Amino acid sequence: MSHEYDQVEVPESGEKITYDEDADELDVPENPIIPILHGDGIGRDVGPAAQKVLTAAAEATGHEINWMRVYAGQAARDRYGEDVNLPDDTVNAIREHRVAIKGPLTTPVGAGYRSLNVALRQTLDLFANVRPTYYLDGVPSPMKSPEEMDMVTFRENTEDVYAGIEWEAGTEEVEQVRDFVEDEMGFDDVMHDGPIGIGIKPITEKGSKRLVREALDYAIENDRDKVTLVHKGNIMKFTEGQFGEWGMEVAEEEYPDEEVFAAPDSLWEEQDEVDIPEDAVMVEERLADAMLQWMQLRTDEFDVLAMPNLNGDYLSDAAGAQIGGLGIAPGANFGAGRCLAEPVHGSAPKRAGQDQANPSAIILSGRLMFEYMGWDDAATLIRDAVEESISNGEVTYDLERQIEGGEKLSTTEFSDNVVENIEELA
Ligand code: NAP
Repeated sequence: MSHEYDQVEVPESGEKITYDEDADELDVPENPIIPILHGDGIGRDVGPAAQKVLTAAAEATGHEINWMRVYAGQAARDRYGEDVNLPDDTVNAIREHRVAIKGPLTTPVGAGYRSLNVALRQTLDLFANVRPTYYLDGVPSPMKSPEEMDMVTFRENTEDVYAGIEWEAGTEEVEQVRDFVEDEMGFDDVMHDGPIGIGIKPITEKGSKRLVREALDYAIENDRDKVTLVHKGNIMKFTEGQFGEWGMEVAEEEYPDEEVFAAPDSLWEEQDEVDIPEDAVMVEERLADAMLQWMQLRTDEFDVLAMPNLNGDYLSDAAGAQIGGLGIAPGANFGAGRCLAEPVHGSAPKRAGQDQANPSAIILSGRLMFEYMGWDDAATLIRDAVEESISNGEVTYDLERQIEGGEKLSTTEFSDNVVENIEELA
């Protein structure tokens, strides 16, 4: 059944992507309708640039995209009225068409505003935020061997700090929670000393297990060797530690040893000596603080990481910094039969509307979206075409300032350059 849309133009041609829940399979026509949200700030620059590049890659590989523009943030306020940040049209279009791509959205500072990104991810139950971090030839990096980085992070996307259960110091509510925790639960020695803010960090079995399952399935399908569960379970035993235990349970109970091998005692032991069945994905646990240094010092030892929300936030940004930073860091949010691709970066207001920003991150997010759709040829073409521009030193300001002899291109010029590469490489 199709929704009636208020302010969104539905393309005249094109078919919907559908999902068979029982088989967990997506059916992607050759001419799908794909919602696209350009976004706030530099989204106005990089959104249209990415749309052009993705259209070219699809056409060069025998597909046709029928784009459906949807709106949120400032564009929604302009179109739907001052109070409307995230119109029902937008949520319904992404829900109905299953696969979509978005640029960044500004979270207005001030009371009463919830992050639109968090709202979208939660409303559509996009429970896994996935960020591949790999080196593109020619990208300037602070690391000695940036090419060792080839990692994919799976970050839980709906709970932990994203659940947003917090009470502000000085409110009646926080005092009620404090009374309950002190009087009923017996935690009085850290709670009684002056004003206090309290947050709750929920980590559920369902949320942990489906995230780890997603990471394991990805590792199996993509011939990855290892999935590392990253948490802080030595301190937060019943939230972070529980995430690790539930994750290991998935590995032990839901997959045969030849496919997934849960490494014993991996939190404290090196795993070099463990006898792993050939071709099996090894699953291990590591503590988040140690992981932040190993990622830099022993980069090539890590492969796929699965983490609760807050760890995933820190670790994926730190990983991105090792291979060139925000201008090229792609991402996507996945749910059951759903994908919403989006770059890691925000709306960078300082650079907005100046045709300066690097569109690589959102273009490479489109690559993830194409992989999800099974358009592997178009996905590879995108990666190769972006890499070609960068390795030729034809780059936007953010990379040009770090590449000696680089040529500075505007957002539009860079995306035209990538389109030319697509046409040559196809
Ligand atoms: P940001 O928008 O990511 O930008 C921080 C800085 O990173 C920019 O000033 C720029 O650095 C560099 N940068 C980011 N994207 C770039 C690109 N495509 N090309 C070149 N350089 C790029 O972070 P922020 O300033 O903290 O956040 C701004 C707004 O975005 C906030 O409202 C935040 O809530 C929102 N946000 C949204 C999302 C999302 O929609 N998923 C994600 C993160 C943040 P230089 O100016 O130094 O070159």
